Amino acid sequence: MARAHGDSTRSVKAVGTEPIPGSPIGPVPTSAAAYHLSRDEDAGVDTYGRASNPSWRHLESALAQLEGAAAAVTFGSGMAALSAVLRILAEPGRTVVVPADGYYQVRAYAEEFLAARGAKVVQASCAEMCDAAVGADVVLAETPSNPGLDVVDLHRLALTCRSQGTVLVVDNTTATPLGQQPLSLGADLVVGSATKALSGHHDVLAGYVAGSHPDLIERVLRERLLAGSILGAFEAWLVLRSLGSAGLRLERQCHNAAAVALMLSAHPSVRSVRYPGLPDDPSHAVAAAQMRRFGGLVSVELADAEAVHALVERSQLLVAATSFGGIHSSVDRRARWGDPVSAGFARISLGIEDTDDLLSDLDEALSAL
Ligand SMILES: *Cc1c(COP(=O)(O)O)cnc(C)c1O
Repeated sequence: MARAHGDSTRSVKAVGTEPIPGSPIGPVPTSAAAYHLSRDEDAGVDTYGRASNPSWRHLESALAQLEGAAAAVTFGSGMAALSAVLRILAEPGRTVVVPADGYYQVRAYAEEFLAARGAKVVQASCAEMCDAAVGADVVLAETPSNPGLDVVDLHRLALTCRSQGTVLVVDNTTATPLGQQPLSLGADLVVGSATKALSGHHDVLAGYVAGSHPDLIERVLRERLLAGSILGAFEAWLVLRSLGSAGLRLERQCHNAAAVALMLSAHPSVRSVRYPGLPDDPSHAVAAAQMRRFGGLVSVELADAEAVHALVERSQLLVAATSFGGIHSSVDRRARWGDPVSAGFARISLGIEDTDDLLSDLDEALSAL
């Protein structure tokens, strides 16, 4: 008779499923399967989790489909994805244009790391991007920009870049691939933070690069393998699971943002509003030509910092948070983080609450100001 197993063996066995090479992580304990080598030494793509694994491949295939790309490569955060691309492209001696009015840590990375190792870093606002691209080797554009929500004309920028062999990278975080597809407008690579609206539950950090040039994708994969800024398998599964509701969430978020932008632009306590979906927004014509949805962010200018604090305190629905894009509505006073905006500037991220509830909540909170 076979020896009875000990408690540890029984516990391991009791957990269940046999490891199946090639199965992704999921609600059953198959995560270790990613590292099970096949007996056939030429068969396996999964040699080690940092090189590739089935959990990433499921997510990468979904992200590539949404971006209209041949391939996507996941990273542990949006910054990991962005910095990987910049490290590859902004070699010493090259000129790289980065957004002056975009995500602030990208500027910091470019100045502190790329400029320090000999790349020439040029900062340009959305409005200056097309001119700044002339003669550059690499252009990173962010549209709509976070936090100002200004828009870059991607078709025009791509024509300039194409004509002179400049690599165009577009940060698609604020719009998401369901809001715009930069590759179809001529970008060479898309980078994004999946931390925001794409995963949309304020519970995971993730990033990705997507594109269709095999040589660029190869270099991104090599960079990830060697630098190791990878996404955990569990986080990959969380993002993948969240993607299924991205269309529904974004639809409601965009609807809420459009309604709130309209209400705020007529409110006496609000000095100015930016939302690319507003017909009289300076970016509206370009946004309407290149975006399928205008996004869930609205930026406003109130009187001062105190007015933003009061808005957060009086609102029943808005929470103060520095991330955005999730199911809860939130507000962030960006001057707090050093963005080049006024003290009363606030970026409002609309969640999936009922539109009427948000409108009356914001109206009440602002009317008391
Ligand atoms: C948040 C953000 C990033 C960085 O993403 P993380 O996932 O936080 O690293 C990059 N670009 C934009 C436009 C962002 O909003």
